[in-house]
Amino acid sequence: MVRLNRSVDGLGCEVFAKIEFLNPMGSVKDRIARHMITQALADGRLHAGDLVVENSSGNTAMGLAMMAVLEGLRCTMVVRRQTSQAKLGCLRAMGVDLVLVDGELPPEDPESYNQKAKRIAAATPGAFFPDQHNNRENSEAHYLTTGPEIWQQMEGRIDYLVAGIGTGGTICGTGRYLKEQDPSIKVIAVDPEGSVFYDHFHTGCHGRPGRYLIEGLGDEEIIGCPDFELIDDMYRVSDREAFLAARELARMEAILGGGSSGAALWGARTLAASLDSAARIVTIFPDSGTRYLSTIFSDTWMREQGFL
Ligand code: PMP
Repeated sequence: MVRLNRSVDGLGCEVFAKIEFLNPMGSVKDRIARHMITQALADGRLHAGDLVVENSSGNTAMGLAMMAVLEGLRCTMVVRRQTSQAKLGCLRAMGVDLVLVDGELPPEDPESYNQKAKRIAAATPGAFFPDQHNNRENSEAHYLTTGPEIWQQMEGRIDYLVAGIGTGGTICGTGRYLKEQDPSIKVIAVDPEGSVFYDHFHTGCHGRPGRYLIEGLGDEEIIGCPDFELIDDMYRVSDREAFLAARELARMEAILGGGSSGAALWGARTLAASLDSAARIVTIFPDSGTRYLSTIFSDTWMREQGFL
């Protein structure tokens, strides 16, 4: 946990961030990869030599690649073609077999990001599909590790948890644990503009998915992993807000986080600005800015997108 300083100056709240890019493969998703694979090996769904097939924005794939190396498994990962080159390069370096899909395809398309991994796994004997988007072992990993670590490191003094929602594993697993310790803790999710979670949470309706550039957050469809009842409020962040916040985080705090870290900082600031009294806010920075040097941290790219 790191206490933020200049980036939250004048907001009247203390903001603490859990820096998850310090995990071995550089993201929060190492936790779920380890838990889903060790559970599957323990109960016989997976055996040494088997093939692991998953769809991932890149970070779960890195965690699964780590587990594949350590446990003698093979790894085929379905990744959107638009995923940052740095992530794709890291996956290739770890020996992952990549299947690149067009991220613009609708979720019902059999070739889409949402369908392809399940189809490959079903057609391949001895293949295991962890299914992070619907597997409750995803949020359980955070219930067992991220939640207790934050509780201990904050010495039990937390008012709010603010975190991005992708599969929902991080926010729901951590949030469940923290609420069990102190039911007054409020959990705030940050969803990108274009994702369907925000409308689902606030109105119960399934809005139309749109295009956005933040990697790792949001979805085109409602998935099984998130437990929306644990979430007290949900904010909607734009690509521009998240990316500018990530750049400020680097230059004001010397914390080089990715776009979802920027979204988390934006969420913590938005919450702090809305409160009448001082509060202790915890947030989570999921991965490193080194994975986005050619995008978020490139002035040229940011200008091309109209963000600078
Ligand atoms: N940020 C990044 C960079 C990610 O890769 C992910 C994972 N999809 C998240 C945030 C969101 O985490 P979760 O899937 O646990 O909601």
